[in-house]
Amino acid sequence: MRASPRIAIIGAGLAGLTCARELAAQGIDPVIFDKGRGLGGRLSTRRAEGGFQFDHGARYLTARGEDFASLLLAAETAGAVARWHVEEGEAVFVGIPGMTGLAKFMADGLNIRKAVRITHVREAEGGWRLEWKEGAEVFDRVVITAPSPQTIALLAEDHPIRRSIESVGMDPCLALMVGMSPDERVPPTIQLQPSDDLSWVVLDSTKPGRPDVPCLVAHASPDWSRRHLELEMTEIAQRMLPLVSQALGTRLTEDLPYLSAHRWRYALVSKPLGQPFLVDKTQTLFAGGDWCLGARAEDAWTSGKAVASTVLKTI
Ligand SMILES: Cc1cc2nc3c(=O)[nH]c(=O)nc-3n(C[C@H](O)[C@H](O)[C@H](O)COP(=O)(O)OP(=O)(O)OC[C@H]3O[C@@H](n4cnc5c(N)ncnc54)[C@H](O)[C@@H]3O)c2cc1C
Repeated sequence: MRASPRIAIIGAGLAGLTCARELAAQGIDPVIFDKGRGLGGRLSTRRAEGGFQFDHGARYLTARGEDFASLLLAAETAGAVARWHVEEGEAVFVGIPGMTGLAKFMADGLNIRKAVRITHVREAEGGWRLEWKEGAEVFDRVVITAPSPQTIALLAEDHPIRRSIESVGMDPCLALMVGMSPDERVPPTIQLQPSDDLSWVVLDSTKPGRPDVPCLVAHASPDWSRRHLELEMTEIAQRMLPLVSQALGTRLTEDLPYLSAHRWRYALVSKPLGQPFLVDKTQTLFAGGDWCLGARAEDAWTSGKAVASTVLKTI
């Protein structure tokens, strides 16, 4: 192996963190950039006054492959995830104390620059130039793990990787977070038909390690989310609340202790790429993330791991 190349990873979600960990295990110290102030991307947790806490992105984690199962077991031993329940023989895990728990566990020891939104990835002498509002830096290798439309936006218009990604489909998801008073009585989980306007309603506070105050999270279906995507957040909340009341069979009013909506413009992969990642002909620019393989967190992990394995072969 030659002198360690300078490697940048865009995105501190599951794909980016997985890739970084694999590289770090081989003595390479990649720099991870994320536009967010926190870690984990769509593995996210919102905390609010009144002790409320919501997993408004990924709901839970399941493992189909042995490798991802091993990661979840290691995280469980470290107290970063816990079993919530078992569904059809499959263990269902959640992050501790929120979904970001897994990301924080994985990020240990990594070099992460938060709150840096990369605006362009341009070809430069000696590699790739990453640009952001206040600066720029050239790296030998760059791995982009942003959702597919955001990856497209970073690359030059005629870049071949950009064209390959255009076939990928991602659905939006509007999320509602409701913090209730302790005497509100709602069932722990509500089963909905996929055709309903809501795809998920759950009392998040029934997950292990959560604060003992009723916190409800609802996700609108892709179709409903698409139709209401550009509304103001307060209006999204106002329109989702009656849907939640209907699903619960109770009437929730807007004077709740906490009520807020979140817009996931790129939430769930509807049409994956069909291969674990993309690499350009110079083998120095990579693009990965869940959108390569499917709609589950494990797909992001598989993609991130596959990118790292190829990066290591090219060094
Ligand atoms: C509402 C919802 C429910 C879900 N439910 C489940 C579930 O129950 N089970 C499950 O397995 N999966 C679920 N998922 C999917 C799961 O969350 C994703 O598959 C996984 O988290 C994707 O990881 P990723 O690393 O590919 O992308 P992300 O988590 O999106 O990470 C990409 C990162 O890139 C950063 N980024 C983007 N652009 C830039 C830029 N220009 N500069 C710097 N940083 C940038 C972002 O801030 C983000 O942190 C759900 C997702 C959503 C939104």
